[in-house]
Amino acid sequence: MQFDVVTIFPEYFRSPLETAVLKKARERGLIKVRLVDLRQFATDKHRMVDDRPFGGGEGMVFKPEPLFAAIEALKAEAPAPWVVYLSPQGRLLNQEIVRELHAKGRLVLICGRYEGIDERIREHCLDDEISIGDYVVFGGEVAALVVIEAVSRLVPGVVGCRDSVEKESFSEGLLKYPQYTRPREFRGWKVPEVLLSGDHAAIARWRRRKSLEVTLKRRPDLLKKAPLNQEDLAYLKELGWEPED
Ligand code: SAH
Repeated sequence: MQFDVVTIFPEYFRSPLETAVLKKARERGLIKVRLVDLRQFATDKHRMVDDRPFGGGEGMVFKPEPLFAAIEALKAEAPAPWVVYLSPQGRLLNQEIVRELHAKGRLVLICGRYEGIDERIREHCLDDEISIGDYVVFGGEVAALVVIEAVSRLVPGVVGCRDSVEKESFSEGLLKYPQYTRPREFRGWKVPEVLLSGDHAAIARWRRRKSLEVTLKRRPDLLKKAPLNQEDLAYLKELGWEPED
């Protein structure tokens, strides 16, 4: 999986890419992250990438020429990339979209700053626009990192145990069940007995039920799309869930 990140702050990525799982994944060649400094594509002597908006108003906007040149150069390389602009106006990122992005194999991630980018680039040069949530951050860099982390987790070998990726929140359309570790009792708070029983079938049933419970309590919207079997539906009914809600 390859990520080409177009940014005016390549140094922003130094520590995240040099830490823990991303560092290992890069060293093992499972993912490749290339930082592309947008200023290198500016042609004037001050390496300007932004300018004032036509029509007046606050802030600065990324000029079209450097962005166009950067995207054109990256598109000329194989394999063909999927060009994504990180933007609060984009498709709201979720695990389904993460899977879609992973399937592309190579992503160009464009990080805006200030007031964003010239609309003509948006109209003519992008394949996709992705938002990390209904709020605004300073720049696309933190959003690009979110995409890099979420997509990298799906690359085989990046997360040690496949099982933990497949049983994660959202991967089966539900939130994950609660987890406990030692000690068995902490400040009088006990670990549920069933988890200590060694009865794997009972543990699996308990976990499935807890997944359903927490999803119903915290994100009932997810239940509408989750693949549910008869037993799940019966349990949700017991909990008072109405499918039409
Ligand atoms: N004026 C723009 C926001 C600019 S914020 C608007 O109202 O739509 C500056 C940059 O931060 C954007 O270009 C984008 O790349 C990034 N950004 C801000 N919030 C984001 C979000 N929720 N998701 C993804 N990128 C975001």
